[in-house]
Amino acid sequence: MVTQKTVGYYTLGCKLNYAETDAIARTMETEGYARVKFSEVADYYVINTCSVTEAANKKSRYMIRKAYARSPQATIIIVGCYAQLKPDEIQKIPGVSLVLGALDKFNIPDKIKEFEQLGSQTLISSCEISQVSLFESSYSLEERTRSFLKVQDGCDYNCSYCTIPQARGKSRNATIAHCVSQAQDIAQAGVKEIVLTGINIGDFGRTTGETFLELLQQLDTVQGIERIRISSIEPNLLSSEIIQFVAQSRVCMPHFHIPLQAGSNAVLALMRRRYTTELFAHKINEILRYIPHAAIGVDVIVGTPGETDELFEQSYQFLASLPISYLHVFTYSERDNTDALNIEPKVPTHIRHTRSIAMHELSEQLHASYVARFSSTIRPVLFESKQKNGMFTGYTDTYIKVSARISEQYKNTIVPVFLDYTAHGMIGTIV
Ligand code: SF4
Repeated sequence: MVTQKTVGYYTLGCKLNYAETDAIARTMETEGYARVKFSEVADYYVINTCSVTEAANKKSRYMIRKAYARSPQATIIIVGCYAQLKPDEIQKIPGVSLVLGALDKFNIPDKIKEFEQLGSQTLISSCEISQVSLFESSYSLEERTRSFLKVQDGCDYNCSYCTIPQARGKSRNATIAHCVSQAQDIAQAGVKEIVLTGINIGDFGRTTGETFLELLQQLDTVQGIERIRISSIEPNLLSSEIIQFVAQSRVCMPHFHIPLQAGSNAVLALMRRRYTTELFAHKINEILRYIPHAAIGVDVIVGTPGETDELFEQSYQFLASLPISYLHVFTYSERDNTDALNIEPKVPTHIRHTRSIAMHELSEQLHASYVARFSSTIRPVLFESKQKNGMFTGYTDTYIKVSARISEQYKNTIVPVFLDYTAHGMIGTIV
């Protein structure tokens, strides 16, 4: 009997990486590699890295060291943005066997064969990002109730602080027909909710002559899919038509995630973002005009070069004035080969930290008042997983986390739930 080779996977970073890791694992399974938990001793480890900040690089290195300590004889394979951007740096980390750039990350079985034939210490297979033009489709099934479906990759924008276009290449996408077929596969697997995922998904259609709105319209008809969330969409690409479609859609959730990044036009210009705070505020108001209960999450970066105390204050006040639901706060960190490195004044690290704390506190206030609005109302909840305390958790259509003491039969079902906002969070009772 041949013993199956085992592979442990670890994913860092964004939803796109999670979708891609699962796609890689399914390909490996068809080639005879069994998936095991990352915490187990395995023959191979695949670490799908992130490089959005210096902290992400550091965490990627930490996970490599962890895998090596667990199984020093294992073949450790590094893919993802950090592998594309810094292969030489990764090569020096003890235990690393293969470093695969963007061209080869979906080609791991062949690269393993190459590595084993060569018998070399470390195989680096890197590429110029300009060589990467293929769209590799992916979706995740690990969570069972929710799937991240990759519909778009890469970005043609050129924001001054961002390294993603260097790691992921030009904007490109799957066809709508392909996305629909993948959504059908996801539905077949019993998953109820799809999160549409990409780097700049509002740019969907650039390579196929289609539009993101048409994609939503087609996905709306897929039997078995009961929820679709749009992971994140640039404000300048969030059209009135998309907002109005979401408002009346069967499956699109009343939930938007929109990157603002700075609430000051001066900083937005330095970042080379493609909108103003006025346009952003207009979009928020438009969403709420059509969908008054919509959840709106907003990304903000603190401490980018050029963000003086006064401009940060402007940013803070702008965000505090918006009727939004929560913030995703990122702290700027220097990335190689970005124009932001040449912008003055730099913001000292301790001030970046103080600003991050202020924005996190603002986010908590915004979230608490958004969530409180739903106390004593009934909303549909998709129940996902059982916690150690015996309670199930799930999310409302408006992306509020709910805990409820319910029986196993409700797992992966959407049911109407009466909500009670308590000191322990939102508690639900099935009605
Ligand atoms: S839109 Fe800007 S921040 Fe977003 S991936 Fe593209 S370049 Fe980076």
